Amino acid sequence: MEHIPETHIRSNLSEEEKENFRKERDYYLMGQGEVINKEMFKTLNKLGREKTQQEIIAIEIANEQSNKLLTKFGLQPFNIPTDNYYILPDEILGFGKNNPAGAFPRYNLCLFRDTEAGLNPVIFGCFAFHETLHLKNYLSFKQQQKNDGLRIYRAGISISTSQKNKGKIPKVYLRGLDEAITTKMNEEYLSILLQHPEFKKEAEWWKSMECNLLKKDYTKDKKIFESEIFWIEPSNKEIFALAHTLERRLLDYICSEIHKKKPDKYPSEKDVFTEFQRAQITGNILTIARDITHTFGKGSFRKIASYPEDWRLKIHFEALKLKRKINKS
Ligand SMILES: [Zn+2]
Repeated sequence: MEHIPETHIRSNLSEEEKENFRKERDYYLMGQGEVINKEMFKTLNKLGREKTQQEIIAIEIANEQSNKLLTKFGLQPFNIPTDNYYILPDEILGFGKNNPAGAFPRYNLCLFRDTEAGLNPVIFGCFAFHETLHLKNYLSFKQQQKNDGLRIYRAGISISTSQKNKGKIPKVYLRGLDEAITTKMNEEYLSILLQHPEFKKEAEWWKSMECNLLKKDYTKDKKIFESEIFWIEPSNKEIFALAHTLERRLLDYICSEIHKKKPDKYPSEKDVFTEFQRAQITGNILTIARDITHTFGKGSFRKIASYPEDWRLKIHFEALKLKRKINKS
């Protein structure tokens, strides 16, 4: 039987209710979701298309790679069942049009758009790994208001508040950096995936002269780096590059500044990134909060945590760099 790390619940529910909630999650993890929500699972099973052998291997590798991270930070590894990954037609997906995939930690589910994620098993694998990480990151649930159901309170480093954003969805702090940490790990996964014998054809294309020339061509204006391209579709040469670019630039900048400020504690930028990963997996954000505050000044952690997730991030990022420059000189 698969096992899941303890679900943290912050609420005024009775112990019995909390226990029921934990059990509910365990059912989903074991792929026995129908016990809890028959209708929902019936619909998904009917609408989701059958996965190919390569897609199943991609999920297995996503589980293996993410489990290595759990073990690295002292947590019990666990697998998300292959059946909990659904590849669905566009019209039934509720989440944003531009989202090729989504993770639903409460149900241990990942949903993928067939028209994008299902286009090629490598693309699917990269998305599957990303969403799997969202399911295995630290999670806690909380009852925000009396008579309200349990809602995600912490996921990775991000924190939801009861405060409403644009009057509708709860405001989430640190989500941009959370996505940046998750997205940055893709490169490692891709290299493991392409070593699998079932992906021989894809690996040959990836290493081919034609593919490498295309990568060079796509990156010549230096807007993205080669390492950020995770697939070029051989049939139509469509390029697939990592999302959350600005958030990843911000994370890299923060890691590099912390490393410069504390070279003894963090001999390299990668060591700082490991600390961010630890926070993401274990939920303990105290160290990164302290390091950011020591490096960027009092109140900076709170400020960075509340950066918006849209085009305005660029302005905040520039202001942070400028402030840091002034403080250093
Ligand atoms: Zn994500």
